Amino acid sequence: MNQHRSTNQDMSAPSAHPDDPHYMHRTGWLRAAVLGANDGIISVASLIIGVAAATPEHGAVMVAGIAALIAGAMSMAAGEYISVSSQADSEQADIRREQEALAATPADEELELAAIYRDRGLSAETAAAVARELTALDPLAAHVRDELGLSEHLAARPLQAALASGATFSSAAAVPLIAAWLAPAGAIIPIVVVVSIFSLMVLGAAGAKAGAAPMIPAMLRVVGWGVFAMAMTAAVGWMFGVSV
Ligand SMILES: [Zn+2]
Repeated sequence: MNQHRSTNQDMSAPSAHPDDPHYMHRTGWLRAAVLGANDGIISVASLIIGVAAATPEHGAVMVAGIAALIAGAMSMAAGEYISVSSQADSEQADIRREQEALAATPADEELELAAIYRDRGLSAETAAAVARELTALDPLAAHVRDELGLSEHLAARPLQAALASGATFSSAAAVPLIAAWLAPAGAIIPIVVVVSIFSLMVLGAAGAKAGAAPMIPAMLRVVGWGVFAMAMTAAVGWMFGVSV
């Protein structure tokens, strides 16, 4: 897509509100980053609490925590890479199909474009004129943007998504891990719980701010799920601790 759309990018119009930018171009990496960080804190904190509930032995808790961080970061990055790659593949396949249709039936494609603009409310005459001019300028770009709805902002970037989620998973998961490392053996669980809930609140607030979404619901969402997950693994750990 990049090699094709370079001509249009140069001509992008100045924003009507440059001091208050849109947030759409953040969605891709923001979603991967928040997902990665959220998962990092909840999965590693829960595992540390589960192991600490079964055995308060510091070494065992740290080994489990470090293993969870590495395994989690790898699987998050791999999962994002695979899912976003398949999205990129289908985008490329659609663009190729559009290219073939433009080569085979250019007149039909121009009519199709005009119909899209008519559906958006333009008069038949204006729609036909816009379709004619944009087709003359760059037919594929017009169809990719207005028919397929693909744009530079939302283009699938597998490596960016994988790196974003792997990096944020690791850095977020390091928080409960460091808390467990610094905590006295008998106080690992309460300290990791408090530190994790606080970091989930900060994460919820940061994600809401970056996406211009309401803060309280976002914070309650991540903290609620975090507490639930930690409680579940603590219960399992205690059961193991009692039975072992
Ligand atoms: Zn088309």
